[in-house]
Amino acid sequence: MFRKLLLVRCCILLLSVKLLNSQNESRKVSQTQCFCELQGQVDECCCDVETTDEVNSQHIRPLLERLLRYNYFRFFRVNLKKECPFWPDDSRCMLKDCHVDSCSEDELPSGLKNDIPTAMCSPEETQELELSKVDESLTVDEREKFETWKEYDDEKMNFCELDNETSESSQYVDLLKNPERYTGYAGTSANRIWKAIYEENCFRHSKAKNVFNRKSIADLCREKRVFYRAISGMHASINIHLCANYYFAGNLLKKARWHHNTAEFQRRFDAATTSGEGPGWLKNLYTLYLLMLRAVVKAAPYLEKESFYTGVKDEDLAVKQLILQLIESAKFCPRTFNESDMFKGQSAALKEEFRLHFWNISRIMDCVGCDKCRLWGKLQTLGIGTALKILFSWELSSSKELGQSKHFHLRRTELVALFNALGRYSTSIYELQTFRHLEEKVQTNDEL
Ligand SMILES: Cc1cc2nc3c(=O)[nH]c(=O)nc-3n(C[C@H](O)[C@H](O)[C@H](O)COP(=O)(O)OP(=O)(O)OC[C@H]3O[C@@H](n4cnc5c(N)ncnc54)[C@H](O)[C@@H]3O)c2cc1C
Repeated sequence: MFRKLLLVRCCILLLSVKLLNSQNESRKVSQTQCFCELQGQVDECCCDVETTDEVNSQHIRPLLERLLRYNYFRFFRVNLKKECPFWPDDSRCMLKDCHVDSCSEDELPSGLKNDIPTAMCSPEETQELELSKVDESLTVDEREKFETWKEYDDEKMNFCELDNETSESSQYVDLLKNPERYTGYAGTSANRIWKAIYEENCFRHSKAKNVFNRKSIADLCREKRVFYRAISGMHASINIHLCANYYFAGNLLKKARWHHNTAEFQRRFDAATTSGEGPGWLKNLYTLYLLMLRAVVKAAPYLEKESFYTGVKDEDLAVKQLILQLIESAKFCPRTFNESDMFKGQSAALKEEFRLHFWNISRIMDCVGCDKCRLWGKLQTLGIGTALKILFSWELSSSKELGQSKHFHLRRTELVALFNALGRYSTSIYELQTFRHLEEKVQTNDEL
């Protein structure tokens, strides 16, 4: 009897060890299935993942970390109260982590105070405004027409709907005090936004379900692929940020904390849990990052003339120096992204459609039901839209050189969005390495 009992116990023990091993095995397999595509050539780009990782962690990220702490880039003017233009607002998220703190005027640097457009101008722009006083000889009617033409010109070039900065609903937000991280925003409202973006605005072929799998993307023309990858890259970055800054509630033994959540990361990007698509989404982040860097390099003649005015001379000079260093560091591979072969020949007619689709996506951001997600969603679409404007609108301006064009102009808010969005993607790429290390650590512990 005793021997029989011992035998049964041994069998149970053996079975549990086997089960544990098989669990560990499947964990090991899935651990390597998020990063399997992060190697070799980046899609649509002239650069590989390995070089991008190295330049990002050694040069670009450290420069951006310093740059984005300066007041010029820290305060973003945004209207978070705009109505959703597409469907009735589904109740705004009441989670405390969705809340955005706006800034009081005292916190702003002198050049940004008073919320009036002239206060946001650099000395050159102020001088320009002074000179434009000649317009006073124009009749009110003529001046109104002139404004309408100007708005029309701006709209033809822009890829995003810009908030009216003089609106009472616009506010300054300190981006450092409102970091992008886990908010708990999910469910119908969040899914509806992503669905509207992909299904109605990403040039999908048909109404078929899950139309954006790797096969259907390969069938698209280059312009449409770039569009999809840019959006998917932004989506991946948002989700990496929420996994990297995830909220773990405390208990009697442990304090609450913000930390990496590797299980959440795996759920979102593992090939096994995303029908094989997750690793490709991570690679799209690289396409977006390289496209943004190319825009910064292309805008160099314009950026070299920009004063980044905040009213504090030393700071403005330091910002300029960092921007110049960033432009130099971004020149690798030898061109990170080649926009010159897009919208040529038969594809030329697509350009306006491309611009309008992106414009629509910028408006969808006013439907995001969580203020903090809305803030970063608006900032990132404006940042990507600014990069697209630099890459594809300069031909509309009178001169081929952006720096010399009388018509090409970037508002402060566009510059703030461009560099902060780039900062998001640079950090996301860096965080991928952290997740890789964390998973390797788990794997090693499992093996011990
Ligand atoms: C503009 C915006 C900003 C947000 N910001 C935050 C934030 O700051 N903090 C926060 O906690 N939450 C944020 N969210 C919510 C977050 O992105 C998710 O929507 C939420 O966590 C629910 O995730 P999910 O698992 O349902 O899949 P979702 O991320 O909602 O994805 C929906 C579907 O899209 C597909 N998909 C997923 N990722 C990709 C990709 N990279 N490329 C292509 N297709 C993809 C998948 O089929 C997936 O099922 C934001 C949402 C939006 C729309």
